[in-house]
Amino acid sequence: MTPISLACDCGNVVLHIAPRPAPPQGNRIICHCNSCRAFARLLGRTDVLDSADGSDILQIRCDRLSIAKGAEDIAALKLSPKGLSRWYAACCNTPLGNTTGGPGFPFFGALVHGIVAKDTLGPVLARVNIPKERPLPQGLPATEGRTTAAFAGVFTIMLSGWLARAQKRNPLFPNGKPLAPPRLVSLAEKETAYA
Ligand SMILES: [Zn+2]
Ligand SMILES: [Zn+2]
Repeated sequence: MTPISLACDCGNVVLHIAPRPAPPQGNRIICHCNSCRAFARLLGRTDVLDSADGSDILQIRCDRLSIAKGAEDIAALKLSPKGLSRWYAACCNTPLGNTTGGPGFPFFGALVHGIVAKDTLGPVLARVNIPKERPLPQGLPATEGRTTAAFAGVFTIMLSGWLARAQKRNPLFPNGKPLAPPRLVSLAEKETAYA
């Protein structure tokens, strides 16, 4: 089967996701948390957010991910020392996805922005992590509204991943070391990004 391609905007970096026989291709959510928004802002890429500042994310087990090309252009940043590693293509500042800070969790949250065939992924389960200070505006595209299923999906990915030791097969942590050392953003950058 043809892999699902996740490409940066300039095409230098291409990641592949091993496809499932049928949708859903992962646990698809729109995350409205302030950190996902801050990530896009730090890269100067608020265009990847939806009209309510949400990030469309396909959560998968990390061993479905591979790097087809452009590994040398993959970079990462962290918003806090113990926070997620947020991966992007440095060639054109395209956000690619998130992992936990270290290699212990068998997880990758792919930013749907770079996925070419978005319509093959399956529906968005739910909008999650909506900050109290930024309630959702009216008129957003409907999701399936299955918040519990969305969180259960993450748990299932983690559990099946640990059982299969999938965290050992994360191309972003070859030999257990980050492919690119994440840059910890400065407090000044954070203040702007979270404002
Ligand atoms: Zn690029
Ligand atoms: Zn988020």
